[in-house]
Amino acid sequence: MFPIIYSEFFMLHETGRLHPERPERLSAIVEALKASAWADRLDWQAPTPVEKRPVVMAQIEQIHPQSYIQEIQQLAARGGGHVDPDTPVSRLSYDVALLAVSAWLDGVDRVLATGTPAFVLARPPGHHALSSRGMGFCLFSNAAIAAHYALEQPGIERVAILDWDVHHGNGTQAIVENNPQIAYCSLHQWGAYPRTGAGSERGAHNNVLNIPMLAGSEVAHYRQAFEKEVMPFLQNFQPDILIVSAGYDANAADPLAGIELQPEDFGLFTDYCLTLTRRIVFGLEGGYDLKALAKSVVATVERCLLQKS
Ligand SMILES: [Zn+2]
Repeated sequence: MFPIIYSEFFMLHETGRLHPERPERLSAIVEALKASAWADRLDWQAPTPVEKRPVVMAQIEQIHPQSYIQEIQQLAARGGGHVDPDTPVSRLSYDVALLAVSAWLDGVDRVLATGTPAFVLARPPGHHALSSRGMGFCLFSNAAIAAHYALEQPGIERVAILDWDVHHGNGTQAIVENNPQIAYCSLHQWGAYPRTGAGSERGAHNNVLNIPMLAGSEVAHYRQAFEKEVMPFLQNFQPDILIVSAGYDANAADPLAGIELQPEDFGLFTDYCLTLTRRIVFGLEGGYDLKALAKSVVATVERCLLQKS
């Protein structure tokens, strides 16, 4: 069985009628997974409610100052607003964002318990969120919070984060780059939002690898990057668990970027990850063309199921 950690509650983070990061992203993915040939092998797991897991708040507070957490809470309590022009908060966004963090932590728990991959199907995404400032559709730094949580588990000394969203995970990198126990690797379109992620950045412990991709790049360019840079970097780091910031906006069909991948290419990336470890938490970041997004998640999960040992 392949775990999908998901709740319909994630649809209740409302972003407005024309916002690309919309609830329908999740329904499109759920529908596609349920229509797949292997739908009966999916184990739909509800995230642990935050009230049953007080540690969620403590984990978030390790990464984000209380003043920022309260800012999001109060903005939501007032009925909503914006933390930046791209990043709306609705009445339930705070609660949804907390449950999303809980889901990412569930992903870590599940993967460590079984030694096999899991997919966290949550929103809002997280990789642009800075410690004290939300931005780029992101409120809390899901991947960084999950990485720190993983390091508190027995036997976990090193966590790698692979971010294949088309945008650089500026928030994740800023939060983890000084931690020698966390490696961060991102492939992103050079010059795209938020215009960070230079290839020259290496982190305080040679624990950061940024691979800027030129607009128009195709799978051949990505394959070369994986073989020559991503895989050697990750293999050298020898992570005890891999967290994938799985954004799917590098698809050719995506309206927010200019990379030319096809949905099945994410199956190839998944294969690369599986050669490194089976302890992989995939967590949803971006991806805004509903069809391509849904197909790409299907490709990711399918590769994990096919390689089941
Ligand atoms: Zn993105």
